[in-house]
Amino acid sequence: MKYKLETIPVWDAYKEEGECPLCSLSEKAEERYLNFYLGSSVMNPETRVEVNKTGFCPEHYSGLLSKRSNHGLGLMTHTHLEKRMELLAPYLRKIKSEAAKASGKTTLIKPKKLGSAIDDLENHLLEHEENCMICDRIEYTLKRYTFTIVHLWNTDGEFQEFFRKSRGFCFHHLPDILKMAREILSPAKLADFCGEIVSLTEKNNERLEKEILWFTQKFDSQNFDKPWGTSEDAHYRTIHKLTGKPNSHIKK
Ligand SMILES: [Zn+2]
Ligand SMILES: [Zn+2]
Repeated sequence: MKYKLETIPVWDAYKEEGECPLCSLSEKAEERYLNFYLGSSVMNPETRVEVNKTGFCPEHYSGLLSKRSNHGLGLMTHTHLEKRMELLAPYLRKIKSEAAKASGKTTLIKPKKLGSAIDDLENHLLEHEENCMICDRIEYTLKRYTFTIVHLWNTDGEFQEFFRKSRGFCFHHLPDILKMAREILSPAKLADFCGEIVSLTEKNNERLEKEILWFTQKFDSQNFDKPWGTSEDAHYRTIHKLTGKPNSHIKK
């Protein structure tokens, strides 16, 4: 077995009965990792080396800032900046030396080597922008959760019942669950699973469409006094279904 089972958190997420269990699991994982990187464990040398090298994406830096653990964050960003200065230095030196060579020349042709030194610097920085330790860890953890969902569907009758009554998945996570099923199920089971996912998705999209429709109709004066039913938060849940929760947009 390639992935580790995570039965308890998966069951907990299903019991929340939200629009997407993977979004809920992703939110909890994110919270755990934000706390982890501000906690004492980040002082262990291996984690420290990794943080210094990789850093975080803008969204997760915002998450870290919102925790208001300024001392810890200061220490971490200080050593990360030191490491990044070391990695950046050769690119800056290259630009400086090519600029010096081109300086004072009267030609109208742009200096090629200076141009490529600028490109190299851009590529180096872009590569770093794509790196985030928290995104990486959430992605890894979510793989285990998707594995657990498919595994439980395949082996646990009680879970299968829950699964069928659930609200399915958001559009962002829908391919993930199908891809995991493709990876680990036998062809016959994969066909069954895909059939179930499609009906689950269709049924829940129709349910949500009715809820958001009633939400819009509630603004007509003739409907002011009628009950909301389940529609009062339908705009939140529709956005959630369409895009996943904001934090679920980790790079893949
Ligand atoms: Zn989701
Ligand atoms: Zn991130």
